[in-house]
Amino acid sequence: MRKFFFVLSLLFALSFDIFAQQTTVALHGEDGRKEAIEYDYFPHREYAFVWRNWSVVDKHRLAEVMQTKVENIESLAESMGLPRKQTIEPEWTTTRGYITILKRNWHLLPYDQLLQLLGMDRQELKFRLTEDDFLYQKLGYVKPWCQPLRYETPTAQMKERAAYIAELLSSLGKNALKCEEPRFDFMREFEVVKREKSKQETSSSDDNFELKMIFPYFTDFGDPLLDKSMSSYPEEYFRQLQQVGVNGIWLHSVLRMMVEPDGLFPGDSRAKERIEGLNRLVQRAAKYGVKVYLYVNEPRGMDDEFFNEMEGRKAFRGPKVRDLYAFCTSRPEVQEWLSRSMESVFRQVEGLGGVFTITASENYTSCVSRNHLDCPHCRDHEYAELIANVNKAIEEGVHRADPDAKVIVWDWQWRDSECEAIIRQLPKNCWFMSVSEWSKPFEKGGVKSAVGEYSISNVGPGPRALRNWAAARAAGLKCVAKVAVNCTWEMAVVPQLPVVDLVARHAENLSKQDVNGVMLSWSLGGYPSENLKLFQSFKKGMSADQAVEELANTEYGDKAGRYVREAWRACSDGFEEFPYHITTLYHGPHHTGPSNPFYVRPTGYKSSMVYGFPYDELKSWRSIYPMDVWISQMDKAAAGFEKGVKLLREAVAVAKGKYREGVETQLNRAEAVRIHLKSSAVQGRFYVARDRYLASSDEAEKAECLATMRQACYDEQQLIKDMLPLLSHDSSIAYESANQYFYLPCDLVEAYISVDHSLRWIESRQ
Ligand SMILES: [Zn+2]
Repeated sequence: MRKFFFVLSLLFALSFDIFAQQTTVALHGEDGRKEAIEYDYFPHREYAFVWRNWSVVDKHRLAEVMQTKVENIESLAESMGLPRKQTIEPEWTTTRGYITILKRNWHLLPYDQLLQLLGMDRQELKFRLTEDDFLYQKLGYVKPWCQPLRYETPTAQMKERAAYIAELLSSLGKNALKCEEPRFDFMREFEVVKREKSKQETSSSDDNFELKMIFPYFTDFGDPLLDKSMSSYPEEYFRQLQQVGVNGIWLHSVLRMMVEPDGLFPGDSRAKERIEGLNRLVQRAAKYGVKVYLYVNEPRGMDDEFFNEMEGRKAFRGPKVRDLYAFCTSRPEVQEWLSRSMESVFRQVEGLGGVFTITASENYTSCVSRNHLDCPHCRDHEYAELIANVNKAIEEGVHRADPDAKVIVWDWQWRDSECEAIIRQLPKNCWFMSVSEWSKPFEKGGVKSAVGEYSISNVGPGPRALRNWAAARAAGLKCVAKVAVNCTWEMAVVPQLPVVDLVARHAENLSKQDVNGVMLSWSLGGYPSENLKLFQSFKKGMSADQAVEELANTEYGDKAGRYVREAWRACSDGFEEFPYHITTLYHGPHHTGPSNPFYVRPTGYKSSMVYGFPYDELKSWRSIYPMDVWISQMDKAAAGFEKGVKLLREAVAVAKGKYREGVETQLNRAEAVRIHLKSSAVQGRFYVARDRYLASSDEAEKAECLATMRQACYDEQQLIKDMLPLLSHDSSIAYESANQYFYLPCDLVEAYISVDHSLRWIESRQ
């Protein structure tokens, strides 16, 4: 798809008018002046640029960006010990890899050079920063300021430092940067449809839920329907989903991108192409009994440019938040546009499964999605009525076109006190969804709190879902539980967390509730796995323990199965210690793990959302926990996985034939999670000591801090060494579909270089 955009950009560039318009599009935070981080463990920024891009961008493009000869780029790479020949996977030039590339250059290049590197135009990057699952937020709501990067001839000192990097690299072994399994390879395994007999027929009679919906593992979150190759939705993936009992996938949608411009209301010139894409997808999924659902978060707020473009538009404008105005849904025209647009999509795409809605959060949409009291048209209406009306407008449109399509209304971020009133006002043919584990109370390390969302470590359902489901059933609506089965923002560095006991306990708890459907994941966790199998096959009356034991024996045979079963228990026990809080989930270092560089000088940056940059900001990492408790909880969680890893090694030793590969996969996943949890604790110790060192004037205290920092460096170096072969061996590790690769082998080695740099800094102070 990227190539397609590149050609398109060239065509655009030929038209002077459009080109002139392109250059006027301002990008997020472009006028910011916060200085980029100086990665001073590299001899110069140009070295960091070549190091980070050598395995993802062709050297000729790197040379163009730096306005120099390709020989100069080659010589920088070679001086740091990078392999002479580049091996670049084709996915890096598609939308599948651009986030990973954007992120690694965020502190190195200004926007114009980033666009050149990505082969993307301003309009497209602007759309993606806003709409590709909060990308700009993940990058920290700030574009670090940097000078354009131009090639400079290395000085003798720079050359000497580059040679030292080459030495460090070779100390990690000659294969440190080599990927035994090329990145993205795990996706290629889905390119050919396997002819195994479907197991669906045997399990369909035991179906526990009418609806079982998940987010497809490889899908581009932002604009997923323009991919004509359908490579994001391989047939084999649907076949495997069918085997684990999944009968629905969901996609993020932006309504104005799927309809034509409509009078005063927005639309898009490529709407038809997206509808065609959706039709292709619906047909492919239908072959495997899978329906497609749209995530609808509408009507999306729009900016000044939109509302000023036509006089009549201002009448629909709600309050402004940041740079967007709400669409006021108290204006009947806005509700009618919503209905009409939904109807148009469902009329054009026969067999579309339905929608689920979020109406009180995520993107800025209607006035009531933030604060309706700021709107003169909404302020006299009840909160519950406003929320219900947005849902009614969507429901009406969908059902006018297809009465059988499901309209699932999600209570995400609705005010607790208003949920029942909203539910009562919903049309009776809506379904109602609640996050199962929401508001479940817990205590970790003596700290008490309650779950927000995204928790596997705290087993649902919690009181909020139980109360709201009861209200929905009383109102005659069917109920859906949103759960996390494979992985979640607590830990998404592997496609499936080997914490099967926790998943089984959730399944057991839900089996006692009258729930008609499940949404099995947010944008992460859509990989066909053991966890999914267990969740899907759970039958009423079963105990969690029994289900886990049966699964282990079926998947790995009696001998190895016994160890795997105990390993799952140990990992589950460990994971229950995870210091859950939504701020830690979004801002902690647990996804970058040992690839997060060590910073001896405070960066001054705030940790960014989900995967972006944890930097060194302990306040957000620890959230509600005192720092020592947070560190100790990470240690305890890691210890559980350490025990699990030992058991899985035993399992590998006795696993025979066809079982062996599966057991090894469990082992690698458990070990990767152990390393990430442990590294979080180690980094925590390092920064606590660093900050104390910097604040102290007491020599004894300073010496103690330096000793702690030194030990943390040694520990982290070991974790990096442990992680490298795992990452090399399994291309699914450190990948998550909405964030793409959290990191690559060269990032682990870069972190190793930064830790070495920290050690030398520590030595220079003793
Ligand atoms: Zn309003």
